[in-house]
Amino acid sequence: MKRIYLARDLTQAQLVVNLLEQQFIPAKIENAHQSSGLGELAVSYPEVWLTREPDAERARSIIAGFEAQARSQVADTICPECEEINPANFEWCWACKADLS
Ligand SMILES: [Zn+2]
Repeated sequence: MKRIYLARDLTQAQLVVNLLEQQFIPAKIENAHQSSGLGELAVSYPEVWLTREPDAERARSIIAGFEAQARSQVADTICPECEEINPANFEWCWACKADLS
């Protein structure tokens, strides 16, 4: 067993596990039950663990791709012409074809 990823929340952890399993890399979520009890000092985040350590290198590159995609989704671009929201990697507005670069 090897820990490969510390997720922000359970949804993100599950997304990573799904991605890995699509590539035939068995993985599971640990620490999924987050305690919100009073007096709890440390916030625990869900962890993604690999069943087989030799998968770590492939898993890391899959996760790197996932993170790059997640970042580009966060940084949307608003078209200066029509104010439609475009993904950050778009060079032209999908709605009015204005230049976004
Ligand atoms: Zn536009």
